[in-house]
Amino acid sequence: MKNFRYKLAEFMNGRYGIDQLYKFSLKLCFVLLIVNVFISSSIVSSVIYKIIWIIFIWMGYRTFSKKIYARQKENQIFISIEKKAKKKISLTIRRFKEIKTHRFRKCPNCKTVLRLKRRKGKLIVTCPKCNSKIKVHILF
Ligand SMILES: [Zn+2]
Repeated sequence: MKNFRYKLAEFMNGRYGIDQLYKFSLKLCFVLLIVNVFISSSIVSSVIYKIIWIIFIWMGYRTFSKKIYARQKENQIFISIEKKAKKKISLTIRRFKEIKTHRFRKCPNCKTVLRLKRRKGKLIVTCPKCNSKIKVHILF
């Protein structure tokens, strides 16, 4: 067992290994496998299996790759996309939670999302970030 560990460590020396993108890919494969259980169409099912295999092969390729810099770059791109997606999801959840009291509008100048108290009608608001005046129309 100790010998196997040593051989594995020697094999992985200089190779990329596991990162956030790997973990996400693994979760994605797992979700696809579960989804596949509920799909009755054999054509769709076989396509999903092929996608899972492609992801698995890609994961293996990345893990054992010796081009560490390129793999790190891919991971950085993935992390930035994940961060943006999480931000968008949390904003959407907040919009639903505060639907009775607040409205959210994007500033056309600096793209900041403004949280406004719900007051029906046309308003002129000042953006706290870029200080520009924005016309806002809240219908309901
Ligand atoms: Zn602004």
